[in-house]
Amino acid sequence: MLDTPIEYLKGIGPLRAEVLKKELGIFLYRDLLSYYPFRYVDRSKFISIREVKDDLPGVQLRGFIESMEVVGQKQAKRLVVIFRDKSGSIELVWFKGYNWMAQKLQLGVEYIVYGKASAFNGKFNLAHPDIEEVTEQSLSHQSAFQSVYNSSEKLKFKGLDSEGIRRSMRALVSQLQLGHITETLSEEVLQDHQLISNYEALKYIHFPENPEQLRRAEFRIKFEELFYIQLRLLRLNKVRAHTVKGFVFPRVGEQFNVFFNKHLPFQLTNAQKRVLKEIRMDMGSGRQMNRLLQGDVGSGKTMVALMSMLLAIDNDFQACLMAPTEILAQQHFATFNELLAAMPIEMALLTGSSKTKERRVIYAKLLNGDIKILIGTHALIEDIVKFKNIGLVVIDEQHRFGVAQRAKLRSKNTHPPHMLIMTATPIPRTLAMTFYGDLDTSIIDELPPGRKAIKTVHYKDSKRLRVNGFMKEQIALGRQVYIVYPLIQESEKMDYQNLQQGYDNLVLEFPPPNYQISIVHGKLPNDKKDFEMQRFIKGETQIMVATTVIEVGVNIPNASVMIIESAERFGLSQLHQLRGRVGRGAEQSYCILMTGYKLGADSRLRMETMERSNDGFEISEVDLKLRGPGDIEGTQQSGVMDLKLANLAQDGQILQLARQSAQTLLDEDENLTLEKNKVYERQLSAMQESRKNWSKIG
Ligand code: ADP
Ligand code: MG
Repeated sequence: MLDTPIEYLKGIGPLRAEVLKKELGIFLYRDLLSYYPFRYVDRSKFISIREVKDDLPGVQLRGFIESMEVVGQKQAKRLVVIFRDKSGSIELVWFKGYNWMAQKLQLGVEYIVYGKASAFNGKFNLAHPDIEEVTEQSLSHQSAFQSVYNSSEKLKFKGLDSEGIRRSMRALVSQLQLGHITETLSEEVLQDHQLISNYEALKYIHFPENPEQLRRAEFRIKFEELFYIQLRLLRLNKVRAHTVKGFVFPRVGEQFNVFFNKHLPFQLTNAQKRVLKEIRMDMGSGRQMNRLLQGDVGSGKTMVALMSMLLAIDNDFQACLMAPTEILAQQHFATFNELLAAMPIEMALLTGSSKTKERRVIYAKLLNGDIKILIGTHALIEDIVKFKNIGLVVIDEQHRFGVAQRAKLRSKNTHPPHMLIMTATPIPRTLAMTFYGDLDTSIIDELPPGRKAIKTVHYKDSKRLRVNGFMKEQIALGRQVYIVYPLIQESEKMDYQNLQQGYDNLVLEFPPPNYQISIVHGKLPNDKKDFEMQRFIKGETQIMVATTVIEVGVNIPNASVMIIESAERFGLSQLHQLRGRVGRGAEQSYCILMTGYKLGADSRLRMETMERSNDGFEISEVDLKLRGPGDIEGTQQSGVMDLKLANLAQDGQILQLARQSAQTLLDEDENLTLEKNKVYERQLSAMQESRKNWSKIG
C-alpha cells in the first residue's frame, strides 16, 4: 500500500502529484507519510473577535459571514469578507483563489476560522485564513495539536498549502492499517526504551490527540533516526577491528624514556598523561588505532603527538605529522627540532615550497628508513612520498582536511598505520558521536598550569582611540599584539583594501622607529611571509597585522593581545581559534572584538558568548545552535542529512540512549544474525539501497 504512487491518493491526481514530486520529492504514499509537520498549533481554543491581537501566533474564531465582495482592480483584486460573532466583526481577505472561495462561502452558515491576525489601518484582518463549516466532524478535529506543514508557492497554487497537505495526509492516514507499516526496531529495543510502534508513531506524529501522544511519537521517530546512524557507525568499527590488522607497538623503549626523563621541559598535565596512556593501549592492542584527540587551543596536543611518535620509533617504525598550513608545519618542525635536539633522531620538513633537490634527498631517506619523523603539509600525501615502514600518522587540525586525505595516508604502508587526529575546534559531543562515530575519542580537558583566563571585550568601532591607547600600554610592557582582519572569498578585493587601509592607519598611529609592524596575508610569497613571521617571533616587531592565515596553531607566548577587526564577520569557532593565539605565556592576555555599530541578533549573541566564555566546548554548543549541523563540515558523509526530526543541537540525550542501545545490540550479536535482530540487517540494506539511488539522482 505504501508503495502506491502518490497520484492515486484521494484528492491528489496527476497534476498535484507532479508538483509534489518536484517540490518535495514525494513520489509514493510512504514519502508523504514521512513528510512530518514542522510545528503544531493549538486549535482547542476559540476566542471572541474583540480579543483578537496581532501578537498572537494564531487566532481561532467561530461566527457567520455578514457580507462578501470582490474589490480592487487587476493585481490588487481580492475577496473581502466581513466575519461576525457576538463581540464584533473582522475582515477576512483572499488575494489568490478568490473566485473559487467566493463561490464556496455562504451567508447564514456557521464557520470556524483560523489564521494569523495583522493590523492594517488600525483594524485587524486575517489574510488567507483556514475556514471550515461548523459540523460535528469539524469540531471533533479541533485539537490542541494541529499539524502545520511546510509548503511552497507552487504547492499553494495547486491547493497544497499546509491545510491542503493536512487533508491529503488525513486521507492517507485514515486508510493506514497496522499491517501496512513494517516495524523497524526489534521487540527488545522497543521494550527497553518503552517506544511506541512505528505504526502508532506515524499516525500520531501527524494527528496527535493529546500532548503525550505527540511526545511519544516524536521520541520514537527521533530515536530511530539516531539509532540507525549509530548502528551503522559502530558496526563499521567492529568490522574494521576484525579485518584490519594494526601494527603492534609492544615496547616503551629508549627514545621515549630518554626524552621523558631528560628532555621533557615541563611536567605533563594529568590530561596529557591520560591521553598518552590511551594511545599506548591502542597501539599495543593489535588493532589499528583511529583516535580523535580533542583539546582546546593551548592544551598541549603537540607534546602528545611527539611522544606518541617516539613510541613508534622505539618499535622500529617511522612517523609523520601533517599540518594544514605551511606556517604551522614549519612551527612544528622548529618545536620538534628544539625538543629533540639532543637525541639521535633524524627529521625532515616537506612542504609545497621544498626545493626539488631537497625533496629528492628526503624521498630517498624516507624509503631507506633514515628519516624517522616527517613533518609537512599536504605535500606528504603525494604518491611519490613513500616510507620504508610508517607506523603512525598524526593529522593536526583535522577540520581542515577531508576524509579522502585521511584515506590516502592510511594507504602508505602494507597495513594502515595508526592514526591520531587532533583538533582544537571542539565538537559538541553529539556531533562528535555522529561525525566521528567511527573514531575513538580522547579529550585533553585541562590546560597547562599557570595560564590565566583570557579577558575578552567587545567594542564598537567608536572606541578605537581607547584601543590604540591600550595597545601602547601593552607594548610598553614588552608585549606583542595581533590584529586580524577577515578574509572572505566573495569580497576578497575589498578585504585586502581593508587590511591595507588598517595597516596604513596603524603606521600613522604607531610610527617607526619606536614601533615596528609586521604584515602577513595569503597573497604574500612564502619567503616574505616567513620573513615577517620570523621578525614577529624574534620580537623585532611589536604588532602583527594579518588575515586568518594565523588562525590555527601559531604559538608565540609573548603575544598577549588579540584584536579581531570586523569580528561580526567571523563564526564562533573561528573567533575562539583566533583568541587561542594569545594566553600562551604567563602574562594576562586580552582579546578585543571590534565590530560595526549595528549588529544582528546572531552577531550579538556571538560576541556575548565570547565575552562570557573561554570554554571551547561551551562555545561549540552555542555555535551548533546558531548554525545548525548542516553547515558544519563533513556533515554529508555522516548520515546527519538523513535526519528529519532529530536535531543534534537539542536531542543529545536521545542520541546517547540510541548509541548505547546500538552498542548493546552489537555486543551481543555483532553480525546481526539472531532471529530477533533480523529486522536490522534488512533495514540497513534497505537504507544502503536508497542511499545508492539518491546518489545516482544527485
Ligand atoms: P595546542 O593543543 O593548541 O596544539 P600546543 O601543543 O601548541 O597547544 O601547546 C601550547 C603551549 O603549551 C606550548 O608552548 C607548549 O610548550 C605548552 N605546554 C604544553 N604542555 C604543557 C605542560 N604540560 N606544561 C606546561 N606547558 C605546556
Ligand atoms: Mg596545535
